[in-house]
Amino acid sequence: MKTATQCVHFDSTDDPYCSISPPIYQTATFRQPTSDEFGEYDYTRSGNPTRNLVERQIARLEGAEYACAFASGMAAITALTRFVGAGEEILAGDDLYGGTVRLLDQILPRQGIAVRYVDVTDIDAVRAALNPRVRMILIETPSNPTMRIADIRALAQVAREAGALLAVDNSMLSPCFQKPLKLGADVVVHSATKFLCGHSDVTGGALVVNDYDLYRQIAFHQNAEGAGLSPFDSWLLLRGMKTLSLRVERQNESARKVAQFLSQHPAVDRVYYPGLADHPGHEIHRSQSKGDGAVISFTTGDAEVSRQVVEATELFDIAVSFGSVGSTISLPCRMSHASIPQALRDKLAPPPDLVRISVGIEDVDDLIEDLSRAFALAVRREEAASAACVA
Ligand SMILES: *Cc1c(COP(=O)(O)O)cnc(C)c1O
Repeated sequence: MKTATQCVHFDSTDDPYCSISPPIYQTATFRQPTSDEFGEYDYTRSGNPTRNLVERQIARLEGAEYACAFASGMAAITALTRFVGAGEEILAGDDLYGGTVRLLDQILPRQGIAVRYVDVTDIDAVRAALNPRVRMILIETPSNPTMRIADIRALAQVAREAGALLAVDNSMLSPCFQKPLKLGADVVVHSATKFLCGHSDVTGGALVVNDYDLYRQIAFHQNAEGAGLSPFDSWLLLRGMKTLSLRVERQNESARKVAQFLSQHPAVDRVYYPGLADHPGHEIHRSQSKGDGAVISFTTGDAEVSRQVVEATELFDIAVSFGSVGSTISLPCRMSHASIPQALRDKLAPPPDLVRISVGIEDVDDLIEDLSRAFALAVRREEAASAACVA
């Protein structure tokens, strides 16, 4: 079955009424037949039918055996880091989501886990950074917000040789476009808040694996630490995921047109979108993904012009996050990536004039017209401001 078909036909529950929409098991506990007999479920922290359904569905879409759903992407990434013990190390991409960097940098060192950042687009640099203590390589591809492309197959090979796990955060593309486990990764990470949910109404996360032993460890931590996704949020996520394929196909198509518009606009300095033929790593990206996604970044060469553009758009909500049906626009340096500690900013923070947009499902002509108008306004305001300065 193709992913688009899988999106709408999921595993049946054992609901006696055969409801087409799965029931929400909004319960904390489950009655036991007797004091020493246990049913399939006993307590929602350790397992819930609605959550299990969304977990099976996420696993299917990734072409995988197992998934565990968490209360947020960060809760999933926290559970992921439990594979790494005191005295061991994580090798992380140097262009990761700001919240991930905050966790890696401010929480893990206290547990005796060292984190080093490396340019994961450079396989030789990754090889050189490996040592026997490295337990995990954690990457995003395309990375956020500058869309750098890492070669998943090559990194999986390098990780395997070093006895480390390769974890790929697939939030940017969704399983419709990229299935990292099929390319050799050991764990797929999702912020389900983004494309999987798609409606900005749930925070959720997932870890997806093929290996039963890894799955047992993840499920153990999900229960022991209590970070599993709630029944109602699981249901909302299931509902959102029915239209995943439809949404991302449309968003991908529109993003391609918006990226073309931006690359031809005189006020734009540089466009970061893996679908552009001159984007670094474009060929590698095309070899491992079926789509380019809906997130585009660009610079204008002037932080003030960028700020004006962000504020002048009307159809793009100024908001962190991406992947929703509604288009959003942000200044990562001040917003999603503002949590990067000062000491690491020079190395890890995006440039101040970088604008990130997430293209929604609106009519693309309206989106382009809105951006075009915002650019004209921003440039006019900047010219007026510098004229006032001279005067
Ligand atoms: C948003 C995001 C996260 C964190 O997910 P939350 O659901 O916000 O906790 C992790 N990785 C990437 C790539 C993200 O975009």
